[in-house]
Amino acid sequence: MALKELFSVVVAENHYIVKRVFLGCIDWRFLRLVKQFRINQDEDPNDPFDPINIPGGVKKLVRPRSEDALADVLADIKITFGHKPEEYILILHNGCAAYGDNFPEVPEDELRKGKKILEDFLARESYKAKVRMIFKDWDKVYEVV
Ligand SMILES: [Zn+2]
Repeated sequence: MALKELFSVVVAENHYIVKRVFLGCIDWRFLRLVKQFRINQDEDPNDPFDPINIPGGVKKLVRPRSEDALADVLADIKITFGHKPEEYILILHNGCAAYGDNFPEVPEDELRKGKKILEDFLARESYKAKVRMIFKDWDKVYEVV
């Protein structure tokens, strides 16, 4: 065996379900908002959830590099169907480096475009879930309503 044990972590082998999937950026400064959001939604932060963290987060839906790149992200999202999420939370954070000099002037519009793309995908796949949108500014977290 070419594996060298580092340490032990016991993980239950049973299948699990999640209430929510969070699609957001990799930027660690904003990851804690997911925990706080879940607490604010009366969700036990120790319950499972599916994080999909990719540079830019919602940018991968709205401004994919190619059709194939979009298909890859949607395929990743489809895998979460197995965990039966009721909600998908799209997150955009201010100053996201993945946008370079093209950060959206109106972050809500970027999130709404992402929501539409995701909702259309969910409809095509006959999967029912709510899509919500979160904008993380430097000092506060907002839900796009
Ligand atoms: Zn980012």
